[in-house]
Amino acid sequence: PDDSGNVAGDAPVKVCIRVRPLLPRDEDAQSFSLVEVQDSQMIHVTHPTIRWAGGRIATKTYDADIVFSEIASSKDVYDGMRLTQEIAQLMHQDGSELSILAYGQTGTGKTFTTTSLEEQIASEIFDLTSPDCQLSIRLSILEIRGSASYDLLSEPALQPITIFAGSGSAQFQGLSVHEVSDKEALLRLIKMGRELRLTRSTSKNDTSSRSHSIVSIKISQTKEGASEAVSYLNVVDLAGSERSSIVASHDAERVKESIDTNKSLAALKDCIRARLSDKPAFVPWRGNKLTMALKGAFENRTKQTREGHTSPSSKLFIIACVSPSVIDIEDTLNTLKYVTPFQ
Ligand code: ADP
Ligand code: MG
Repeated sequence: PDDSGNVAGDAPVKVCIRVRPLLPRDEDAQSFSLVEVQDSQMIHVTHPTIRWAGGRIATKTYDADIVFSEIASSKDVYDGMRLTQEIAQLMHQDGSELSILAYGQTGTGKTFTTTSLEEQIASEIFDLTSPDCQLSIRLSILEIRGSASYDLLSEPALQPITIFAGSGSAQFQGLSVHEVSDKEALLRLIKMGRELRLTRSTSKNDTSSRSHSIVSIKISQTKEGASEAVSYLNVVDLAGSERSSIVASHDAERVKESIDTNKSLAALKDCIRARLSDKPAFVPWRGNKLTMALKGAFENRTKQTREGHTSPSSKLFIIACVSPSVIDIEDTLNTLKYVTPFQ
């Protein structure tokens, strides 16, 4: 255990970076890669402006808890994050919460990554319960777009939700909760929510890149004759982080929505920064709908493990998704800066 009593490798916040491969569309643009994964914790990015100015090639290095290269498969990501162990531990700890956030520019693999993680989680969660326990899984899927929030599983579809900060926790008024009893039902509902978000996006020019979706699973495990352990697992596909989204729109509503989205990502940044700080810092989660919804992820709670170590009962993985292409270099650098504010 370290000074704060945490077991090595059991940090409350873990920063992951995933580099997607060059896609055919990058290659059509005669693009090439500026990103090189050094090892499982280090990435080098070559800054083109300095090279183009004719000077020495400037390379910046970023450290992360886990770096996934272009060739990492979905299973490599799941295993690299040790999600089987994380979820098994989560389910046994009453009051614990695990949140996984995918952050990055549009087109870098956030939906690709969260989709596969959700599918792997859904496939295995029912098998992770102890045989002598009774398990209950409840699912909600929420979309935050600009300053509005919607239920992606409601009947009728897309009912508006009110999110507000109650005393010490966030409240979701109107959000439907769906109990599922097997993996097929869980997979089906998650897919339904995702498809609704995507269908909407094609009918109204790519709005999925401008909204956050939060898949929330409430796990409750009861052991015969013992008390109930309730835990939460959130997978969040964040809105695209690119700055350019505000400009060049004559649609006032869209401009307002972009401003709100950027504000929410800035608010999230402040909370992540506070959590990554060496010193205990105030987490300003009340200021924004997105950070309210993720409040549990920012709590500095610990729990005593059976081995007598303390272990964080609230954990956050942030996966920074980046493109390797020279075309996307500015956004890539912004994304890496966002998740490594102290480097
Ligand atoms: P985002 O949600 O960040 O906008 P997507 O997940 O939609 O990005 O990914 C953009 C495109 O890149 C999709 O066609 C997706 O299939 C592809 N892609 C993203 N990550 C990978 C990867 N690791 N391997 C292969 N293709 C990927
Ligand atoms: Mg997406």
